[in-house]
Amino acid sequence: MQRLIEGYRRFRETYWLQNKGVFEALAAGQSPRAMVITCADSRVDPQLIFDAQPGEIFCVRNVANLVPPYAPDSDHHGTSAALEFAVRSLKVEHIIVLGHAHCGGIRTLLEGGEQGDFIGRWMEIAALARERALAASVHAPETVAHVCEQESIRITIDNIMTFPWVAERVHAGELQLHGWHFDIEQGELERVV
Ligand SMILES: [Zn+2]
Repeated sequence: MQRLIEGYRRFRETYWLQNKGVFEALAAGQSPRAMVITCADSRVDPQLIFDAQPGEIFCVRNVANLVPPYAPDSDHHGTSAALEFAVRSLKVEHIIVLGHAHCGGIRTLLEGGEQGDFIGRWMEIAALARERALAASVHAPETVAHVCEQESIRITIDNIMTFPWVAERVHAGELQLHGWHFDIEQGELERVV
């Protein structure tokens, strides 16, 4: 904890002071052109990967960068709410689904078994990715995980397209969807969709 507090002090004394004007301008409102949907994993930081400044990326992070299909029911849909705000209010032009290697959520999905109070149910969104990965003609566990990570990115993109106001903007050429996979060791992005 001390490390974070010291980090905050450094932020105030250097970055914030040097970029005071940027923060003052941002206080008046945000207009990011891109939304990133990525994993909560501590090793995947979109702002760092894209060398982005405050105000550039509207980001939502959850377990395994999933988006459920459009379902305007009485449940609490945190990720869908963020998607709605990005598309309908901010009118972002790009949505990037950023998956990554060694994803714990994907590993849980592949292993099955005891999956906590929420994680197992959440990962059901990507059940089809598990089926596709297990059916693929690969054997090494890491390779199966890699296929599953990529398939889950495709499923998330497909699910995003079930939101009517997303599909409308995509078809009008006002919004583009992208699916990328981040290799932690190599620091490389691979285009999946
Ligand atoms: Zn992950």
